[in-house]
Formats: sequence, C-alpha cells, structure tokens
Amino acid sequence: MASERILIVEDEQAIADLVTYHLEKEGYPHHRVATTGEAALREVVEFSPDLIFLDLMLPGISGLDVCRQWKANPETANIPIIMLTAKSEESDVIVGLELGADDYVTKPFRPKLLLARMRALLRRCSRALRPSEEEASILNVGPLTMNRLSRQAWLDGEPLSLTFGEFNTLYLLANHPGRVFTRLTLVLETRGDDYPVTERAIDVQILALRRKLGRYATLIETVRGVGYRFSEKEATP
Ligand code: CA
Repeated sequence: MASERILIVEDEQAIADLVTYHLEKEGYPHHRVATTGEAALREVVEFSPDLIFLDLMLPGISGLDVCRQWKANPETANIPIIMLTAKSEESDVIVGLELGADDYVTKPFRPKLLLARMRALLRRCSRALRPSEEEASILNVGPLTMNRLSRQAWLDGEPLSLTFGEFNTLYLLANHPGRVFTRLTLVLETRGDDYPVTERAIDVQILALRRKLGRYATLIETVRGVGYRFSEKEATP
C-alpha cells in the first residue's frame, strides 16, 4: 500500500469517482475529493497532500487561481500538480504550466495513463528530496550526462560542446523528463541577466540542440502548441 496522500479537485462527481476508484485499485488508499476551489484551498491545509489532481473549470474560484495561490505560498509551492483539462482549455494549460503546475491530462483520459503520470511525478519529486551538492550537480539521463558545476556535458561518453544558453535549456529539460515546458518558461528559466531571448529564439536553440544530439535528437520532444519536453522513454532505463 502506498502512503502518498492524493487530493482530487474536481466538481464532476463521475470523474472524481473514476479517479478515486482507480487510486483504490492501484493501492493508494489515502485520498480526498474537493469539489470547489474554496474546498481545495482548505483541504491542502488540513489533508497535506503529496500530489494534487486539479480540474481547471471549477465553480467559484477557478483552478488556475487556486494553483496561483498554492504556488505563491512557500508551504504549498512544492506540491506536484497534474491539471485535468478539457480540449478547449489549451491556453489555460499554458498558463497553468507557467504558474508551476507540473503536468496535465486532457479529458476524457484513460485512468491507466493518469495513474502512470501520477507515479512518475511522485517518483521524480521524491528523488529530488535534498540530494548532496555533488550528487545534485551531476545529471544522468539515458545517454546524456551533465555536470552543472563544471558546465560539461557528454553524450554516450563523448564530450558534447554546448553554448551557455544551450546548456541551460538542455539541463532544465533533462532534469525533468516528461515534464512539458512552455517556450516562455524556457525563456524565463534559462536566460542570463541581460539576454534578450525571445520565444522564437528558443525554437532556434532547440533546433541547434537537436542537431548536436544527432541520433538522439528525439530526446527533445515537441509538444504541439505548448512547448517542449525531454522524452520519458529515453530517460527510464
Ligand atoms: Ca469541472
């Protein structure tokens, strides 16, 4: 039995029931449902979840506003969030990712996929718990190795020559396999203090990175209309 506590924020009873049913079936007995944004804000304090499924279209306070409040509060900012969204909410998805939500699943979703995303995210977050400075500086994903301190990178053991910006972008992506980053997030997270980087420049940079990755170019996946992510397939041994 898993000990993680899962909060489901969803006003549609049928969807909440479906998620609850599959959580039980897969051995996650600790879960609660909140049907409004107000209830969600309360439950995060009372229930202290390890992960949140967040519907964006809620009565009262919207899912995005709930997300914004959590991310602005240091006590709740690190709780991973998977947004549950409708197809028509693509622009909201981008806003949510930029606010700091970790992932999203579009309704109607397959419960198996939802649970797989949840497990991957829980794994990623527990792995991120306080590694030592040295461990934290070395990143190993699939054929790629990166040292954040020395700013060196290797592909299949061969040195990989990257510009300053390319290193930052690749490190950010590779450090979170499967997580989607919008172009704007990549611009904000990876630019230097005075770099006039635009969203278009990110596309150019990704092109250059893929060229340097050669036969591993598919490590960086395009998420249409949203941005980029590091392939989860390649990252898991
Ligand atoms: Ca809803």
